[in-house]
Amino acid sequence: MKQLYLVANWKSNKTVDEAKNWIFQFKFRKTPDNLTIILCAPYTVLSLLKDEIEKAALPIFLGAQTISSFPNGAFTGEISAEMLKGLVEYVIIGHSERRRYFHETEEELQKKAQEAASRGLKIIYCVEGVNQRIPENAALVLYEPQTAIGSGKAEDPAISNQICREISEKNHDIPVLYGGSVTEATLPGFLSQPSISGVGVGKASLDPEQFLRLVEAVSSYE
Ligand code: PEP
Repeated sequence: MKQLYLVANWKSNKTVDEAKNWIFQFKFRKTPDNLTIILCAPYTVLSLLKDEIEKAALPIFLGAQTISSFPNGAFTGEISAEMLKGLVEYVIIGHSERRRYFHETEEELQKKAQEAASRGLKIIYCVEGVNQRIPENAALVLYEPQTAIGSGKAEDPAISNQICREISEKNHDIPVLYGGSVTEATLPGFLSQPSISGVGVGKASLDPEQFLRLVEAVSSYE
């Protein structure tokens, strides 16, 4: 059975109260051994989510959505890898929206990856195609074609499979996930592809009931 990953990305959404409600509604207690659920939430709610996940022994790993390319120090507003240590297990680096709206460069992304790895954080590295450089120390790759992100138009799973396979082959068989408008309807098409090791979910992770249905679908996938 292949190892599967379900990565939720809340992006710039959820107040403290909304995050609390979401986690209280997440009733899933046990996942199969081959499924890892990672919730990448805004910095402002990570601490409360960590407490609730521990209290209720929920099968969720926490992730941050980005990280500073600098270490601790006089960098007002930045969140360093050291500050995230012990709070999250994973961090997304290189999301398409960070590249596009915040002009994050390849050089900066490599620095972020070095910082994350130096503090033992696992990197979920995002790419939009096969030719982007992936840091040696990435744990997972999230392939997200820009046209599919948030557009309601997921890519053809057979095409995604080919791209994920190429990325994985070029990068010592790293697990590659697909992301971009995944819903309950499109999920099975991606899970059934041999070179896709799971999915990244943005919009469909915001509603706890919708996300639970995705978790259930991946859990029952053989
Ligand atoms: C994302 O941007 O990581 C993503 C998967 O978004 P959506 O599911 O909303 O397309």
